[in-house]
Amino acid sequence: MKEKGKYVVAAVLLICLIVFCLNAGGVLRSKIQKSREVSGETAPPLVLLDPGHGGIDAGKTGINGAKEKDINLNIALYIKKLLEKEKISVIMTRAEDCRLAETQVEDLKERVRIMNEEQPVLAVSIHQNSYHDESVRGAQVFYYSDSAKGKKAGEIMQNALNENLEGNGKEAKANRSYYILKKTEVPVIIVECGFLSNYEEAEKLADEEYQQTMADVVREGIVNYIGNSGS
Ligand SMILES: [Zn+2]
Repeated sequence: MKEKGKYVVAAVLLICLIVFCLNAGGVLRSKIQKSREVSGETAPPLVLLDPGHGGIDAGKTGINGAKEKDINLNIALYIKKLLEKEKISVIMTRAEDCRLAETQVEDLKERVRIMNEEQPVLAVSIHQNSYHDESVRGAQVFYYSDSAKGKKAGEIMQNALNENLEGNGKEAKANRSYYILKKTEVPVIIVECGFLSNYEEAEKLADEEYQQTMADVVREGIVNYIGNSGS
């Protein structure tokens, strides 16, 4: 009888141990699940901002002497601040006055490489336009012809520009030759904020207050796209 009692105790202990282990495993699994859900909920969307040109590449020079590279960077830095206030993560191809490589071709390749590596929900390249006819003005967006997401982002951004900038009535334009649009695997748009060849617009674009206004409009376009893309 004594021997039998020992076996019963051992068996009960074993069962308790198995039950305990299964429960512990279950608790651990649900903890992992929970932390995944929490991190999934709070992971902010990532947006890439690409201020065009920089360093020895000044880009276009305004009729008033303003350099495109400086305007691009200022506007992009303002956009970054505004997006971060809305809990959107931002990465920039450059945050100072520099070029990303020795040559222009290598510089563009590097920008594309960063975009493809970082996989943002949207990449926004900031530029300023120029034209031989000085009367031409206005902000316009370009997207890659074969990208449905790029087209959507381009149209949403153009809407934001047209609604917020007085007298702006341009249409988002498809393009299949710009390197940045062609080689990038994530949705990408180019925002040409205005024409440096138009004196009045060049003066505005060089003005800090207008740069902030422009940044806020681009922020609105980005936020609207993110809200519409389900990401
Ligand atoms: Zn440019």
